[in-house]
Amino acid sequence: MKKAFVIGHPIAHSRSPLIHGYWLRKHGIPGSYERIDVPPEALRDFLATMRDRGFAGGNVTVPHKEAVFRLLGRVTDRAAQLQAVNTLWFEGDTLVGDNTDITGFMAHLDDSLGEGWDASTRTALVLGAGGAARAIVAGLAGRSLERIVVANRTLAKARELVEGMATPTGPTLEALDWDDLERALPKTDLLVNTTTLGMAGQPPLKLTLGRLPRHGIVCDIVYVPLETELLATARALGLRRVDGLGMLLHQAVPGFSHWFGVTPKVDPELRRLIEADIVGHR
Ligand code: NAP
Repeated sequence: MKKAFVIGHPIAHSRSPLIHGYWLRKHGIPGSYERIDVPPEALRDFLATMRDRGFAGGNVTVPHKEAVFRLLGRVTDRAAQLQAVNTLWFEGDTLVGDNTDITGFMAHLDDSLGEGWDASTRTALVLGAGGAARAIVAGLAGRSLERIVVANRTLAKARELVEGMATPTGPTLEALDWDDLERALPKTDLLVNTTTLGMAGQPPLKLTLGRLPRHGIVCDIVYVPLETELLATARALGLRRVDGLGMLLHQAVPGFSHWFGVTPKVDPELRRLIEADIVGHR
């Protein structure tokens, strides 16, 4: 029986066991996927002994993503770019780390908006400059956009992010002061919230979305609640919307495929299962 895990500290909140449990049942695989609370001081030992304990790999969540990146001898280019690891598996005897947030976010955008959405999207405005923002800017930078603007409450972090991600051939990257946000909206084709604003227990993200062009797309990666105030406003204005849950589901696909040998699909039944769990815990 193949075994995988998600490690974090704390870990009780993780919905990954529900996602992987669904795919294990759906594909009739006699495997397991468990939550393991690993405090920071036990991380190195956990990684060193996980194979002896029968694990084929697993997911890594807060607060271990950067520490695992530093502990591994081999990581993918994506993990190196973000300096954070969220998925582990073995290649031969070597433990390999990847970061699947980039492909998770982009796969969900492509699924939600349809192939070719990026051909008519010139400017993306990304709000926030934390770990999730780095993945999203990296993903968008690989597409045919002209500009990616990063606005953050702490401007220095937005500057650091764009300086670290700039490529000679990709879109122009710019940092924007949080106070100038409203003025940037009329020239924004795709707005992505990666801040914690709008999350249950946090203040909402208040923006005058009516300033966006009529073809504007509003994406919020917060998924608790499923529809944030930002997305509800976008819906009322008839703007195209992309929610945060799909990113969570899509980022799980590569890990399952490495550990259990089947590439699973993000299907409506999985979505309904996780939606019910989120609504049930409110
Ligand atoms: P993080 O590294 O802690 O970054 C948090 C960001 O939010 C920072 O840019 C921070 O700005 C900003 N922020 C916090 N409070 C703010 C406020 N009151 N006003 C303005 N900005 C504020 O967190 P993260 O890992 O990037 O995650 C961010 C959000 O994305 C969380 O809600 C998380 O649940 C969600 N997420 C979703 C997925 C998914 O699969 N859908 C994946 C990853 C993350 P400063 O730099 O100024 O502090």
